[in-house]
Amino acid sequence: MEGSPRRVVMRTCLGAYQLYTRLYNERAKPAVMRYRYAVAVLHYSYRENSGLHPAHIRKAVKNRPGYYGRSHDHYNRGRGFAHHLFFNREGDSWPVTVLTDAHCHPEDLAAVFPQAEQERRRLGVTAAASACDMEEFAHNEELARNAAADGASPLLPCFAIHPQLPAVKAENGKPFTEVELNDTLVSLHDLASAGRIAAVGEFGFDLYNAAFRETEALQDKIFAAHLEAALRYNLPVTLHVRRAMHKIFAAAKILTKCRAVVFHSWSGTYDEGQSLLRRGVNAYFSFGNTVALNHKQAQKSCALFPPERLLTETDAPFQPLRGKNFSQWADLPLIIETAAALRCEAGTALTDAKELEKRIEANFCAVFKG
Ligand SMILES: [Zn+2]
Repeated sequence: MEGSPRRVVMRTCLGAYQLYTRLYNERAKPAVMRYRYAVAVLHYSYRENSGLHPAHIRKAVKNRPGYYGRSHDHYNRGRGFAHHLFFNREGDSWPVTVLTDAHCHPEDLAAVFPQAEQERRRLGVTAAASACDMEEFAHNEELARNAAADGASPLLPCFAIHPQLPAVKAENGKPFTEVELNDTLVSLHDLASAGRIAAVGEFGFDLYNAAFRETEALQDKIFAAHLEAALRYNLPVTLHVRRAMHKIFAAAKILTKCRAVVFHSWSGTYDEGQSLLRRGVNAYFSFGNTVALNHKQAQKSCALFPPERLLTETDAPFQPLRGKNFSQWADLPLIIETAAALRCEAGTALTDAKELEKRIEANFCAVFKG
């Protein structure tokens, strides 16, 4: 897209401007506004527009048709308050090429949203589906088989032991036994050797709280075993990393041997991501609703990473927008729009949502179908 980021912003803000003026009768003049397809980003100066507080906007937009949710209010680098408003306007069509979800849990999603698979097909979302036991895997594999038979968008089954699983099992009074662990690893090898999985994932490290930290030795063991399987069958890996970036750097050398390393819901800093790339890790950074929820590091990373390193995900149902009970595939257009808006603000490459979506689709194919 030609023109400076600023001009791009101005060109795309008409819808938001109309929305805004209708609501406030030009009582206030927003500093910058954007409105495209499904996302409005309102920046406004509280100081200049006395009487217009974020709470007023929240209240007013909540009743607008198609209102879907909003991000946190935040102070926008000296330009006043800002927040993102999400709309699914009736009759609005998202100019879909192919939406891709690098990480989700269809069985857990179906438990809270039974029509989820129908919705995935309607939206045309190609998704990499995580499973951490054979029962969950069977659920995903059946969805994948049915989708293939019906010519629907593909679902790509993946398999691994989630790093939180040992702690969750211990908490339920059923600690991970050596036998169970080995059985699961045998299943992983069986699935990988039979070509039934698109990636080994999600596995990794979670050292978020004391209960998780107690299982660190087991997490180490599981990590090493999964990585070994991924290398043996030349499969990409999907990693869950929470408060454990030091572990990733410790494993960076072996990770460089991996075909592709997807960091699901990237929670590191931009510098850490760049450092992994410089060390030769074929890293992909996946972003979900965290970018819309104003997680600063995720937003900065999403704005600045090279476009060929980006992926989108829902982590459905586990990463809901504010006011929602679960994340779902319909969130993807919002995530892409927000990513494009962040890149627009930062002045980096690929600031157009449609172009960005195409790039992300190509990245997804390179990782999971390459
Ligand atoms: Zn997950």
